[in-house]
Amino acid sequence: MQCPGCANEMVTTRVHSIEIDRCPSCGGVVLDKGENDMVEALGLAAIIEGGVRQAHEHRTTTARCYECQEDMIALKGAGDIEYDWCMKCERLFFDRGELTSIDAFIDA
Ligand SMILES: [Zn+2]
Ligand SMILES: [Zn+2]
Repeated sequence: MQCPGCANEMVTTRVHSIEIDRCPSCGGVVLDKGENDMVEALGLAAIIEGGVRQAHEHRTTTARCYECQEDMIALKGAGDIEYDWCMKCERLFFDRGELTSIDAFIDA
């Protein structure tokens, strides 16, 4: 899978015994449709629920979903966490650092 943020190839990594796709280059994380259990397990549901559309403050380029070749939509959820969403694939993309409030995503 190509990273929506920097287009590098992502690698599968384990977080709390769950496999996620993570970019070794920029540290971005992708969660695909069907990984809702993971979203729940990681405590992300409360964050992404009710996300509001808005421009990213810290990134100038739009994240792109290479699965369907569509630009992703920038959203802001609870705790002012910014993320990107592909409406077609229902894919979520988080920048490095966006999920540090969740201990699973803090670098060892
Ligand atoms: Zn990347
Ligand atoms: Zn897509």
